[in-house]
Amino acid sequence: MHHSQGPRHGARDYAKTPLNIYWEMTQACALACRHCRAEAMPEPHPNELSHEEGLAFLRQIPDFGEPLPHLILTGGDPLARKDLFEVIDEARRLGIGISITPAATEALTRDVLVKLKEHGVEGLGLSLDGSTAARHDAIRGVPGTFDRTMRALGWAKELEIPTQVNTLVAAQTAGDAPDVYELLKPFDIARWSLFFLISVGRGKVLEPLEPAQGEKLMRWIYDTSLESPFIVATTEAPSYRRVALERKRESGNAEETKRSGVTRGFGIRDGHGIMFVSNTGDICPAGFLPVTAGNVKSDRVIDIYRDSPLFQKLHDPTQFEGRCGVCEYHILCGGSRARAYGATGNPFAEDPFCPYEPAVKIQPVRT
Ligand code: SF4
Repeated sequence: MHHSQGPRHGARDYAKTPLNIYWEMTQACALACRHCRAEAMPEPHPNELSHEEGLAFLRQIPDFGEPLPHLILTGGDPLARKDLFEVIDEARRLGIGISITPAATEALTRDVLVKLKEHGVEGLGLSLDGSTAARHDAIRGVPGTFDRTMRALGWAKELEIPTQVNTLVAAQTAGDAPDVYELLKPFDIARWSLFFLISVGRGKVLEPLEPAQGEKLMRWIYDTSLESPFIVATTEAPSYRRVALERKRESGNAEETKRSGVTRGFGIRDGHGIMFVSNTGDICPAGFLPVTAGNVKSDRVIDIYRDSPLFQKLHDPTQFEGRCGVCEYHILCGGSRARAYGATGNPFAEDPFCPYEPAVKIQPVRT
């Protein structure tokens, strides 16, 4: 097995240990947002991991060794999971750092945020898809979620909980990004990530950006990241790393990319630095790449992550197809495996969103 990328980000080798493990604790959610990846519904799935199965999964995570992966509790709505705080306490006991991405329901109160912080939750993720209630609520298809999200942002700032805001960008919404940025500026958030729509689940209502529009938006993201009070990043758009490097080269300022924070995500992509466990325990490379390599009820996550054929191939960009296989940026980028899968059914195909034609065949760019 060829692992050309080797250790990155200090001691962590993403072929051995993920940076983030996402656990979709439940598909239950009181909302039904139009583009929900989880196709959330009011009730839990009948085969949802039980309390004991959930704890047994958590107890596998220390197998990866130090530094342990960070656990991100997601859903559905993780606040809909009755044993949420017991799960958090067990993860903390095991030494695992935790973030949570609650849905903007009535359950998301200031008291809940206080309690999450008291139980040792280190980070909060909130979704904000538009700069006004009209825009955000129209995209989500659920009235009231903009106001609740803005209230939660205010509480998170007051309680000093490091917060990541995730903003969906699609053809219909990309023009609103500068206004969302202005709206977020006063909130002292840690990170703003623009999530480039992948058409799965209910996402098919919105249209993804055209590649040329995507490049334009990525250049704006990079320029904004240089002056922003918080880190500005992308989700499911790893080719942003190429755009950032091109932009840096144009400016001739070597320090710039470091200051922008963009290098922090270099090398991470679906199944490489990221692992996803579904509400029923299926082990997948990412939430938007629903190909199952095992299940936590019968498999060890460390075995699946390191040794399953699916993950092994995802760890090795020389095995990718089309332009992503021969691109000199493929160690840092490698393309969105989820988008390749969504477009072709093949998670190793080239990322159709990236318009780049590799100029130099296989002269890998390293940071
Ligand atoms: S061709 Fe693939 S690896 Fe190269 S920059 Fe584009 S998405 Fe990334």
